[in-house]
Amino acid sequence: MTLAVFASQPARSSGRRFFEAAAPTRDDFQRDRDRIVHSSAFRRLVYKTQVFLNHEGDLFRTRMTHSLEVAQLGRSVARALQLNEDLVEAIALAHDLGHTPFGHAGQDALNQCVQQLNPAATVGTAGAKTLSGFEHNLQSLRVVDELEHRYPAFDGLNLTFETREGILKHCSLNNARALEAQEPGGVGRRFLDKTQPSLEAQLCNLADEIAYNAHDIDDGVRSGLITLAQLADVPLFDEHRRATLAEFPDLSQPQSGRRLLYETIRRMLSAQIYDLMAATSEALKSQGIDSLEAVRQAPPLVCFSERMAEESKLLKRFLFSALYRHPQVMATTDRASGVVQDLFRLYIDSPAEMQAHFATQADVLRAVVDYIAGMTDRFALREHERLTGIQWLGGAA
Ligand code: MG
Repeated sequence: MTLAVFASQPARSSGRRFFEAAAPTRDDFQRDRDRIVHSSAFRRLVYKTQVFLNHEGDLFRTRMTHSLEVAQLGRSVARALQLNEDLVEAIALAHDLGHTPFGHAGQDALNQCVQQLNPAATVGTAGAKTLSGFEHNLQSLRVVDELEHRYPAFDGLNLTFETREGILKHCSLNNARALEAQEPGGVGRRFLDKTQPSLEAQLCNLADEIAYNAHDIDDGVRSGLITLAQLADVPLFDEHRRATLAEFPDLSQPQSGRRLLYETIRRMLSAQIYDLMAATSEALKSQGIDSLEAVRQAPPLVCFSERMAEESKLLKRFLFSALYRHPQVMATTDRASGVVQDLFRLYIDSPAEMQAHFATQADVLRAVVDYIAGMTDRFALREHERLTGIQWLGGAA
C-alpha cells in the first residue's frame, strides 16, 4: 500500500539503540509489533485491570482487550489516512505495558509511595532516592527498553525510535531531561523542544481515548453501576440511541437484550472515527503538511472537530463522575491502593521478599517499583496475602 508523504516510513527509521541486521521478510515496524506480541509484559496485560478488577467478571475489558481495541481503531484510521498501520499497531499494543496492577488506583498509589518516601531512607545506591515519582508512560518505555530479558545481546526489545517515541506519550520535564542526558536527541527531546511525535503516535493517543470511552460505557452498564437512563444526559450517546431507536423501534423491548446498547456504542464509535478522519485530513491540508518533519514542527494534527471534541469531553466527564468515582468502584480501588502501599512498604523494608532478580539489585527503590509495576492483579493479591495473611476475597481487608 502507498503511504502518504507525511507517514512514517520504516526505510527512514531513526533506528534501534543496538544495531541489528534487517529481517528478511518483515520491515522494522512489523518486527517491533511482533516483538511486543511475544513479550511477557504483553501476556501480563490479560490479568491487569482496566476499570474493573480482573476477578470481578470475565466479560469486562482488561488491559489486553483494551489494547487490542486501540490497535483495531488505530489501524482503521491509519489505513484510511495512508499512515503506517504496522507502526500504529506496535504503539497501540505496547502503550499500556507499564501499567501497574489495579489500573489508575494502583498507579496513583505507587506514585504516592515513591513521592512520600523520605529521601534519607536507606534505599538505592548509597542511600540516594533515585526516583521522584511513578509515571506509567515512562514505565512502558522502561519495559521495552530494559525490563524484558529475552535477547542475548541486549536488555529490552530493542525497538525502533518511532515505536519508542509513540509509547512515551507523556513525560514530565524532569524525566525528559534525564532521558535526554542518557540518550541525546532521543525520545525525551520532543518534550524539551515542544515538538510533536509522528502522526501514528498522535493517532494512538486519540484511539486510546475513543476506545476507553466506548468500552467503559459497555462495561459500566454491564456491571449495573451506570444505567441507560443516566446516559440520556450524555449528548453523544443520546443522539445515537435516538437514531438507533428511530430505525429499530423494537430495540426498546426488554427481550432485545443489549442490542440497543451495542448498536448505540457502535454508532458512537463510527461517528468519532469518521469525525477524526475528516478533521485530521482537514488539519493536514490547511497546514500544508507535506513531510514527517513538517508534522513534528506543527501543532498536534490528529484531532476531532470542535463539536466532537466538546461531546467527547462531556462523555469523559460523565464517565468520571458516574463510573470512575462510583462508590462501589472507589471502595474496590481504595482497597487495591492499600495492597500496593503495603507491598511497597514490605519490599522496601525486606527486599529479599522479591524475586531473586529484583532482590539482588543495588537500587532498591527502582527494583521495588519495577517489581510492583510488573505485577498482574492476581499476583499482587497473592503476594499481599503471603506477606500479610489478608485475603482479598475473604471479606475483611
Ligand atoms: Mg490505554
